[in-house]
Amino acid sequence: MVNDGVVDIGGLKVLAVPGRGFPQNVPCDAYLLESAGEILLVDTGADREVGWILDAAGPLGASISLMVNTHAHFDQLAGNAKLLSAGVAALLAPGGAEKLVERYGEASRSYRGQIDLDELSAFFTNAEVSVFMNYYNGQHMTMPEVPVSRSLAGGDTVRFGDVALEVIEAPGHSPHHLCLLDRERGALFSGSALLSEGIAYAGDNLFEPGGEGDVAMLLESTSRLEGLPFDALFSSAGFILEGGPGRARETALYYREFEERLLELLSGGPSSPEELARSLHTGERTRMQAYRDRAAVLGMLRKLQAEGVGVPTSQPAPPNPPSPTREKARFKTPFLHRPT
Ligand SMILES: [Zn+2]
Repeated sequence: MVNDGVVDIGGLKVLAVPGRGFPQNVPCDAYLLESAGEILLVDTGADREVGWILDAAGPLGASISLMVNTHAHFDQLAGNAKLLSAGVAALLAPGGAEKLVERYGEASRSYRGQIDLDELSAFFTNAEVSVFMNYYNGQHMTMPEVPVSRSLAGGDTVRFGDVALEVIEAPGHSPHHLCLLDRERGALFSGSALLSEGIAYAGDNLFEPGGEGDVAMLLESTSRLEGLPFDALFSSAGFILEGGPGRARETALYYREFEERLLELLSGGPSSPEELARSLHTGERTRMQAYRDRAAVLGMLRKLQAEGVGVPTSQPAPPNPPSPTREKARFKTPFLHRPT
């Protein structure tokens, strides 16, 4: 039952706080779960979502007592510090990622040093590059050290109100990723391990101080998630109330076809990741899509190489030649605009 945006599943009330995309198409939906006067928050958004989360919690008639990060990417945890200051009592995080969650600001700044700006500049404008880098500088998101109250491992139970959520480990999108399952009501809170809209992503990306994605691991997690008893799927990119396991099957199928098409292209001889990405995705692509297409190819190539499949790729194509304007963008350009 859905009333005023609140989904009621057997007494568990769920309110989605949608991410509105930063800088382009970055999903970061958060969920407020209410039961018997207690609220648990799944993921904390990317800073500006904090206000929306607190506003949305008001009409639920309770304050947020617990929050969980499904994984250590900025769009799932950057609101942690502000929410703790706003009175949320406890922060729960995946085991293995606690240190990263606690010290995300520092981790992201050191990750910043590893980012290949020439590569980014081949896909994004200087203004966009500077927005990314300012995030890693902590200029637009304060990410002070925050204490993790409890580390979660597979099989643990998170209780609030009348609800018991089982922790399911689902690495792949990031090395430490968890989902929360309400077995009684058949609801899975999947973070970014399984998406109700789109295909879960395991390539390199700009937002991953938590480590690279791993396609093979993602597929293992996907097949485990498919076997769980749930129908409703609440993910970091939207939710569906029926047919959740079908999204796991679609994800597996997508990657199987992706792998087959990539192997077919590779059988024609050496090719750069850029050429492969362009052959796989014809038609109009946004810059973010083009960047992610290439990252997805690199992720699948890593999987094939790890499996001992001979991958005849040439060296990655060189980035665009440096330009004086791009030089200026290096860590120095002030925040120019906030895309909406
Ligand atoms: Zn993520």
